[in-house]
Amino acid sequence: MKRFACGDVVAGCNWTMQVADEGELMSLIADHVAEAHGITTIDDELVAVVREHIQLVS
Ligand SMILES: [Zn+2]
Repeated sequence: MKRFACGDVVAGCNWTMQVADEGELMSLIADHVAEAHGITTIDDELVAVVREHIQLVS
């Protein structure tokens, strides 16, 4: 499973998501940051930051 805690990147956000597929996770993260943080442009830099914070969990 891949897990992402938004609070690792955006201070104060307590949204977390855990799914099997990293592509699906990125898509869910994109939906979340657009809805909760008003970030509608996911550029390479943001993708890199998000990837750094994705944890592999069993
Ligand atoms: Zn968030």
